[in-house]
Amino acid sequence: MIDFELSDKLKNLKSMLHQFAQGMIRPVAREYDEKEHEKPWDLINTVHQMTKGGAMGGMGREEKKKEGPRETNLMNAVMAEEMTWGDAGITIVLPGPGLGGAAVQATGTPEQKERLLKRFSADKPCWGAMAITEPGCGSDTASITTTAVREGDYWVLNGEKIFVTGGKSALEDSDGLVVVWATVDKKAGRAGIKPFVVEKGAPGMSITKIEDKMGIKASDTVSIVFEDCKIPYENILGSPEVIDKTKTAGFKGVMATFDATRPMVAAMAIGVGRAALDYTREALKKEGIKIRYQTASNKLMAVERDFMDMEANLQAARLLTWRACWMLDNKIHNNLEASMAKAKAGLAVTRVTQKAVELLGPLGYSRKYLLEKWVRDAKINDIFEGTGQIQMLITARRILDFGRDKLK
Ligand SMILES: Cc1cc2nc3c(=O)[nH]c(=O)nc-3n(C[C@H](O)[C@H](O)[C@H](O)COP(=O)(O)OP(=O)(O)OC[C@H]3O[C@@H](n4cnc5c(N)ncnc54)[C@H](O)[C@@H]3O)c2cc1C
Repeated sequence: MIDFELSDKLKNLKSMLHQFAQGMIRPVAREYDEKEHEKPWDLINTVHQMTKGGAMGGMGREEKKKEGPRETNLMNAVMAEEMTWGDAGITIVLPGPGLGGAAVQATGTPEQKERLLKRFSADKPCWGAMAITEPGCGSDTASITTTAVREGDYWVLNGEKIFVTGGKSALEDSDGLVVVWATVDKKAGRAGIKPFVVEKGAPGMSITKIEDKMGIKASDTVSIVFEDCKIPYENILGSPEVIDKTKTAGFKGVMATFDATRPMVAAMAIGVGRAALDYTREALKKEGIKIRYQTASNKLMAVERDFMDMEANLQAARLLTWRACWMLDNKIHNNLEASMAKAKAGLAVTRVTQKAVELLGPLGYSRKYLLEKWVRDAKINDIFEGTGQIQMLITARRILDFGRDKLK
């Protein structure tokens, strides 16, 4: 049986979070967009006390209760959509394990998951982040140059990571962690790339730049430099062994992380798109335009067709996203579906927000309203965790069963 309905538990959670997003997040969205780099501490503390790392921060955590179907990832996607409907920048800056937590979940041993993730349920809010991108390596994550060399009881990291979302929150504003991808053996290529956990105060680690951004301004995005940075030996996630230099064993950790995080970014995109869609619907209603769903397409006005097209694109993206999450929850390999969801959602949100401005004109361009902000917040979903083009490339490779050498 195919069932696209959410469980009652998720429906209730969705409705509760929607109220929260409407009452607590949306009202401060503009303020923290304008106060770029300043954190909404009241909201952060409230959310932390309510959830202890379980709002957006729940991302990457195992579901504790085992009754009923396992739906951690689907639940996180539903949460991400509701929260980013409130505001994407604020959602990203809420405390929790984030992408760093997802990497720990995907690559850590049971002991590491327990040891490293418990900080997110402690009394003080804290953040997790993930650092792959370097000045010379973005889409081609396999060409990472940051190195990790073992010295006795430590790993010594050298290199630079850029565009680390939440890096300052994790390493300066809290006792959080950043999962840093580095190579233990350059000659081994992808097989030598491993994840390392860097914590606040690690000697030789410094935050060198905070980006001023177009959108998601409430969140921090930083550059981190590692100069003979020493971290404990046990902070390598999974095995230090470079298993087979001809294979991509180490790199599989990166892929497993992306398989979990790409559907989350897709869900975040859908939340922003839905905010623009809802706003457009209300604005059109005020002009006396009601969308006539049951009407033949040749009798519709152009604006109605545009609106339905926006809605259909978001719904298609949502179904792809939920499928990718459902597969992950059921331990089915979802690499293709995660990329399809992200490609579709990243494209849908940029088109939907821009179309909304086109339909509403000044209402969409004025800083008095949030639509112009949603246009700015939309684009990042088509960039981070792999750009839209890269998702299309992965999708094509998977469908055609082509390797990297055949389709670059
Ligand atoms: C606000 C923000 C937050 C970020 N947060 C993080 C983070 O938390 N952690 C992290 O590690 N990184 C983060 N990033 C980095 C992000 O993941 C990279 O920017 C992204 O992967 C693209 O890499 P690049 O910018 O080097 O572009 P490039 O890889 O240089 O690509 C440039 C363009 O070429 C296209 N392209 C590249 N290769 C191909 C190909 N083979 N086929 C077709 N097209 C191709 C790309 O799609 C893109 O349009 C963030 C970026 C931003 C802007």
